Amino acid sequence: MAVPTITEAVVLRSFAFGEADRVLHVYSLASGRIGAVAKGVRRTKSRFGGRLEPFSHVELSIHRGRGELGTVTGASLVRSHDAIRIDPYRLQVGLVGLEAMLRLYTDEERNDRAFLALTRFLDALDSQAPQPSRRPALDPLVLSFQLKLLWLEGFLPHLDNCVECGAEQGIVAFSPSAGGAVCTACDHGGIGLSPAGLGGLRALLGSPIADAPALGIDDRASRDALAVVTSSYEHHGGFRLRTLSA
Ligand SMILES: [Zn+2]
Repeated sequence: MAVPTITEAVVLRSFAFGEADRVLHVYSLASGRIGAVAKGVRRTKSRFGGRLEPFSHVELSIHRGRGELGTVTGASLVRSHDAIRIDPYRLQVGLVGLEAMLRLYTDEERNDRAFLALTRFLDALDSQAPQPSRRPALDPLVLSFQLKLLWLEGFLPHLDNCVECGAEQGIVAFSPSAGGAVCTACDHGGIGLSPAGLGGLRALLGSPIADAPALGIDDRASRDALAVVTSSYEHHGGFRLRTLSA
């Protein structure tokens, strides 16, 4: 019998399966994205059912068979992240982050930096005071998190000067196909970037996720940063996040 894999993981999505089981999509430290069945966890006497909800950061023991789905044989909580689940604003912000992981990381492939970014995002969201007047999609934590994921995937290499000609002045747009900022002369239908937006993007990328600077409530800078994120998803991944259009 194979030895179970023991790994830290964050539950990204879970749904009911059969009479009492739950299918989990998790992002694990050891193997990246994996799917697993947790058997019997919807019974009230389940030993670890309550630990396997979306946002839960757990240490999982998974038995891998020949099928695509592993079987969860044990789970202990690292962080429950209950504070995210019970606050409607934090929940909406958190769901954007989980959907970003689900869409960007579809394969079983270890990526320590992506796992670290995910856990730092959830820890910061869990512990920092929410700012409910903000539109969740414009929250600095989740903008910072998504920009870091795009940077890790090589979709966002360049914002210091024009990615086409190197000009440092006159940056007016973001070109998803070029993967960076462009100047007036080099802009051919890019996403318009205000000076505040460019400054905001640089500030978000230059700070740890937990220290993501507020760019102002519903202001131009936040909307520019969000436009860079969504246009990068569309160009490189061919998808839109459902949670960002809510
Ligand atoms: Zn240029």
